[in-house]
Amino acid sequence: MKEELEQLPRRAKEKKAENKKFFAKLRKRPPKNLDYTMQELHTAEFERTDCLSCANCCKTTGPLFTNADVERISKHFRLKPSQFIDQYLRLDEENDYVLKSIPCSFLGTDNYCSIYEVRPKACREFPHTDRKKFHQISNLTLKNVAICPAAFNIVEEMKRKIKL
Ligand code: SF4
Ligand code: SF4
Repeated sequence: MKEELEQLPRRAKEKKAENKKFFAKLRKRPPKNLDYTMQELHTAEFERTDCLSCANCCKTTGPLFTNADVERISKHFRLKPSQFIDQYLRLDEENDYVLKSIPCSFLGTDNYCSIYEVRPKACREFPHTDRKKFHQISNLTLKNVAICPAAFNIVEEMKRKIKL
C-alpha cells in the first residue's frame, strides 16, 4: 500500500485530463442505472481495499464537521461543544469547521479511528463513490482520486464499464 500511495498523486495527475472529459460527458448524459452501477463498483472495490492499511484520507485531508457531528462527538468526550471546538477545530475559508491539525488527532498509529462510532458524517461517507447521483460530485471526485486509491480504482473501472 505504501508504494501505491506514493504513486497515487502522479497517477491521478496523468489521468486528470481523461477523467475531466469523462465526467463532463457523464454530467451531460448520466446513464439511467448509474446509482446501481456505482453501488456495484463501490462494493467490489471495498471488498479488495483494506482501509486500515491505508488511512490516507485521515492523514492528508480532514472532514468537515457539521453541527450534528460537533454535538455528537463533544457528547462522546463529555465536553461542551464550544470546548470541543476550541480544542480540535478551526473555521476554514468557507466558514466550515475543519480539523486544526492533519493527520487527524483521532487517528491511531495502528490506523484505527478512536472515535469510529461517532465519527463525522463526511468520514463515514468518504470517498462518496456509492452516493446517489454520483455525476453531481464529479469535481470532488476528481480531487479524491489523488488521495484515495479506492476512488482512483473505482473511476478507472467506471471508464471501462460506462460507455458514453
Ligand atoms: S477511504 Fe480511501 S483513502 Fe481512506 S482509508 Fe480507505 S482507501 Fe484509503
Ligand atoms: S475522525 Fe476518524 S475517520 Fe475521520 S479523519 Fe479522523 S481518524 Fe479518520
